[in-house]
Amino acid sequence: MAKTKKDNLKKKNVLQYPAEVLEPVREYLSSRLSGLERRKKDLLEGDPYNNKARLDDNAAADTDAAEEVGHLEASAFRQTLDRSIIQIRKALSRIKFGKYGVCERCGKMIDTDRLMVMPETTVCVDCERKREK
Ligand SMILES: [Zn+2]
Repeated sequence: MAKTKKDNLKKKNVLQYPAEVLEPVREYLSSRLSGLERRKKDLLEGDPYNNKARLDDNAAADTDAAEEVGHLEASAFRQTLDRSIIQIRKALSRIKFGKYGVCERCGKMIDTDRLMVMPETTVCVDCERKREK
């Protein structure tokens, strides 16, 4: 019991999102993940721009991006896909371990606005900027 209390004190600056907030995020990310995985499979099997892939509009933004890179090499597109898949998996595992919304680099809370735009992100704005440099 005492241990739990201490843990709570340690975490007092870190807010954990309640399940009712996380659940829709988890569902959204999962469906995006399966969309991306299907796309990757299509890509590996041949033409990524076949009808089956186009019909998959699970993630509108990703679909647009995918069409934009349609002229690039399939390998470049696959890299983008892989990166998104890894990122979404990471976010999902952070939900699972109760760390969603906490920056994986500095441990601060990630801006809610940022999470709303990029629910798959696992780093805060500051760390993202540092990473880009
Ligand atoms: Zn950070």
